[in-house]
Amino acid sequence: MKAKKSLGQNFISDEMLISQIVDVSGVGEDDYVLEIGPGRGALTYELSERVKRLTAVELDDDLIGPLKAIFAAKPNVDIVHDDILKYEIPNDVDIIIGNLPYYITTPIILGLFEKGVSARSMTFMVQKEVAERIVSAPGSKDYGVLSISVQYYADASYELDVPREYFKPQPKVDSAIVNLKVKDKRELSKDEEKGFFTLVKTAFIQRRKTLANALTGLCINNKTFNKEDIGKLLESASIDPMRRPETLSISEFIELYRKAK
Ligand code: SAM
Repeated sequence: MKAKKSLGQNFISDEMLISQIVDVSGVGEDDYVLEIGPGRGALTYELSERVKRLTAVELDDDLIGPLKAIFAAKPNVDIVHDDILKYEIPNDVDIIIGNLPYYITTPIILGLFEKGVSARSMTFMVQKEVAERIVSAPGSKDYGVLSISVQYYADASYELDVPREYFKPQPKVDSAIVNLKVKDKRELSKDEEKGFFTLVKTAFIQRRKTLANALTGLCINNKTFNKEDIGKLLESASIDPMRRPETLSISEFIELYRKAK
C-alpha cells in the first residue's frame, strides 16, 4: 500500500530505533499506553509486548483493517479508527507515544496538554527543528511560544537524533525524539492560562522588538494596555523594558501575567 503524504506517513524502517523509542518512553508492564498514529504497527507491536494495555488511534481508513488483523490475537491492544485531534483521551492513560504526523505535530501536543490528560510522560518523534524549539531555553533563537507552551506543562528533554534514512518513504528533513515529563502541578489556574498564553503570544509576534514595544496594545481579560501601561507593568514586575521577549524565562512571563491581570 502506498504511503499517504497528506497524512504525514513516514514509516519507521529500523528495529533498533523502535526499541530505542519504546525505551525512552519509560513504559512498564503495568502501564496503559496510548499510541498516536500506529501506521503499519511498527511501534505498536513492540509496545503490545511490553505494556498492560494499549490503545492505538489511527485516522487512515486503509490501515485500520490490516492493523485489526495483525493485533486480533492480542487482547491487550485496541485499535481505534479516529482523528486524534477529536478523540476523547481515556482518563486513565499512563503514557502517550507516537511518531507524529508532521502536519499536525503542534496541535496534537498542545491539544493533549490543554485537555489535561492523565499521562505522566509523553514521547514523540517530531521534526528535528520542532524538537529544538520544544526544548530550547531563553536567549536561544529557537525559544518561543512552542517552547514556553510545552515547558509550562512539562519537563522537556531532547533524547535522540533520527536521520531521515530511518524512514520509508524518506522525508526531506531529519527527525528527533523528545520526552515530556508532565508536571504534577501547574502554576496557574485554567482560567489564568488563557490570559497567560495571550501575553506570551503577543510578546512573540514581534520577537525582535523590545518588550516595551512588543507588548504595547496587549489585550487580556478585556483590558488593553497602552505604551504607558506597559511601562508601568514591566516596572512592577522588575523587568527591563529594553529586553527582548526571547530573553524572558517562563517564570518571568508568569510574574508579568500576575501583575497584569
Ligand atoms: N507509527 C508509525 C511508524 O512509526 O511507522 C507511523 C507514523 S507516521 C509518521 C504517522 C501516522 O499517523 C500515520 O499512520 C498517519 O496515517 C497517522 N495520522 C495522520 N493524521 C492522524 C490523525 N489526525 N489522527 C490519528 N492518526 C493520524
